[in-house]
Amino acid sequence: MGRRRGHAQSDRLIRTRPWNSALTDRPRKPLKPATQATNSGRRSEWTGAVVNPPVWRASTHLYPDVVALREGLTSNADGRFFYGRRGSPTQWSLADALTEMEPGATGTMLYPSGVAAISCALLAVLKPGDEILIADSSYDPSRSFADVFLKRMEVTAHYYDPLIGADIANLFSDKTRAILLESPGSLSFEVQDVPAICAAARKAGITTLLDNTWATSRFFPALEKGVDISIVAATKYIVGHSDVMLGAATTHDKYWNRLRRTAQQLGQVVSPDDAYLAARGLRTLEVRLRQHESSALTIARWLKEREEVGLVLHPALPDCPGHEIWKRDFLGSSGLFSFELKQGDEASRAAFVDALDLFGIGYSWGGYESLALPVDPAKHRTATEWKGKGALVRLNIGLEDPDDLIADLANAFEHYHGAGS
Ligand SMILES: *Cc1c(COP(=O)(O)O)cnc(C)c1O
Repeated sequence: MGRRRGHAQSDRLIRTRPWNSALTDRPRKPLKPATQATNSGRRSEWTGAVVNPPVWRASTHLYPDVVALREGLTSNADGRFFYGRRGSPTQWSLADALTEMEPGATGTMLYPSGVAAISCALLAVLKPGDEILIADSSYDPSRSFADVFLKRMEVTAHYYDPLIGADIANLFSDKTRAILLESPGSLSFEVQDVPAICAAARKAGITTLLDNTWATSRFFPALEKGVDISIVAATKYIVGHSDVMLGAATTHDKYWNRLRRTAQQLGQVVSPDDAYLAARGLRTLEVRLRQHESSALTIARWLKEREEVGLVLHPALPDCPGHEIWKRDFLGSSGLFSFELKQGDEASRAAFVDALDLFGIGYSWGGYESLALPVDPAKHRTATEWKGKGALVRLNIGLEDPDDLIADLANAFEHYHGAGS
């Protein structure tokens, strides 16, 4: 009886070409974003005859013979079977799609969470003795990774004013190895001058990493703006349905090998089921983002007119620090922003949030359901002072009808009595 043959090193994974392979595989003119979101990563060798790349659950990949087994050791690329930890067509297809959607990108690594993407990307560029600059508005777990883990690795983190722009060069020392940017910040929404910061960094030989979760490559093509490694918590808009944790880091030629090898050395792998759901989310990214954008703007403008509301920190509105930079650099705005309850104290803010019915109370964002969260940027800052006076509430505007969300907010204001009012 013959050996059961594997296909580990066959160039085409599924040899039957589906009827639409001409559509998915031919070289193309540049496609518009909605077309890219629906088509990217759907190579016919990964989909076979069906529309979505199927879930390939695998640890062992089988080789047809020992020669192929030996050959497998010398190639390390998506699209080459090797072993489950290096992924299978489900994960390759998603990574491929994210690469296609980031102009200037060479490749994308997937991670089991956004935090894993940030920490593994940082580990790919830092070594003991280095210094890293981190925006003071950064996501708290990024700060904590730097303050605890990187510190133990003898890497020193310095925090900078997110509005620093090209003056960041004044903070460079000969030990500065990397800058971790996040624009806008996900609590206080300052928009950074990413092109100016990255230009200064590149001149000094410093690597730039951007947490681009709020905008995604759709609204902020980060590599084109000078960023070296663009990171998203795909948990948010890519997945879009609040049911999967996932991270991704996308980069250009210079860092691709290092990013890939480091992720592999750290044993990073994403389950094919999660990759499948993320790829499925990706197909509707364009329409979801457009609806999040439109509903969030409607609601932010409505809030701005309320007498109980102070600043509305939405990058597309003038109250937001860095709004002019948003106008210059971004192609759109997403569904997450904060606003100030004038004279709000802890109790009155809690009464407001508790009175909301359609807004869930919980972490994360980017899903189809609206969320409200009391947030306190002052607690997470060391380099700059948070000057906001009122109590901040962060809203994730989901895909409900904005009229219903506005009615819900209007009702909550009935329960809100600012301190002293
Ligand atoms: C949620 C989030 C992350 C982390 O993503 P997880 O998938 O939850 O680990 C990173 N950065 C920002 C800005 C986020 O909002």
